Amino acid sequence: MAYTLVTRRLLPGSLDPLSHYELKVNDSDRPLSHDQLLEQVQGANALICLPGDLVDAEVIEAGTTLSVIATVSVGFDHIDLSAASRSGIPVCHTPDVLDEATADLAFGLIIAAARRMGEAERDLRSLSWQGWAVDQYLGLELNGATLGIVGFGRIGKAVARRALGFGMQVIHHSRHPSGEAGYFPDLDQMLSISDVVSLHVPLTEETRHLIDARRLALMKDTAVLVNTSRGAVVDEEALADALTEGRIFAAGIDVYEQEPSVHPKLLSAPRAVLLPHIGSATTATRTAMASRAVADVKAVLEGRRPIYLLNPEVFAGGGS
Ligand code: NAP
Repeated sequence: MAYTLVTRRLLPGSLDPLSHYELKVNDSDRPLSHDQLLEQVQGANALICLPGDLVDAEVIEAGTTLSVIATVSVGFDHIDLSAASRSGIPVCHTPDVLDEATADLAFGLIIAAARRMGEAERDLRSLSWQGWAVDQYLGLELNGATLGIVGFGRIGKAVARRALGFGMQVIHHSRHPSGEAGYFPDLDQMLSISDVVSLHVPLTEETRHLIDARRLALMKDTAVLVNTSRGAVVDEEALADALTEGRIFAAGIDVYEQEPSVHPKLLSAPRAVLLPHIGSATTATRTAMASRAVADVKAVLEGRRPIYLLNPEVFAGGGS
């Protein structure tokens, strides 16, 4: 009997709407290996996956009975969308519901990196803090500073709203003009005048290493870089070198090129606040994300069109 394959443990109750369907759940926090995914997708009619599951053309082609793929994330760089479309498989994701939680985390990293919170806390815990001093842990004042947002979509705009409340000047860049004040068509120019740069682009071939050694060199040596998008948007080694050589001031990072590994140079770089990919990690948001993905899977299994569809062309033939 065909089943819905769920690649990872979700929060309790998340799969309840699918209780009338056969489920095969990897009820652990260890992702399936690529070989396990290849094997288990055979015979599945739906796949619920997460970032970290590589749903490449091989997996999609092995899933000959698949009628839908849903990722419990807004980012879908781990799924070969073209391969899914070629196979006529709708792919769904979970936009909107994670914007506020992720923007909170990005803003938390902006403050933590600008004010050197990671370093200061590490010193205190290791008992190396010798007491208050006038020039200790001096950081960047956010009030009046310029925040350059790269990728002015759902999450980028939510970060902008927070920044205004902190008295920051907000400017932004995306490929298409946003029609809003503060738009910079030229990323390089925006990087060169920003005090804080926050990344909110999806990972694509175009954005891989968007922030590389050349662009890091354009930034002010007093600037802070925050990445809550995808690790590979930044050349991690170049970032670690820029921090170590004092060519930028600080960084706040939630996502890494080879998760769960973190580049050793980044681990030892000064003034880097490093978090383990927790952008959307609130109970409310993770619940809402799962609910959105599960609802779309249920829709397809019941012959309805899913809502958060990434490849609407698969329904071009007039599907329901
Ligand atoms: P979104 O609404 O699609 O916004 C993406 C923005 O990036 C758009 O403004 C888009 O505008 C711009 N963009 C795309 N390609 C670009 C390029 N090559 N150069 C410059 N700008 C580009 O996406 P979102 O919902 O805000 O999510 C953004 C990303 O955040 C997701 O893809 C995901 O990877 C990441 N994320 C991470 C976490 C976490 O846990 N850390 C949580 C949620 C999301 P144009 O098309 O006009 O360029």
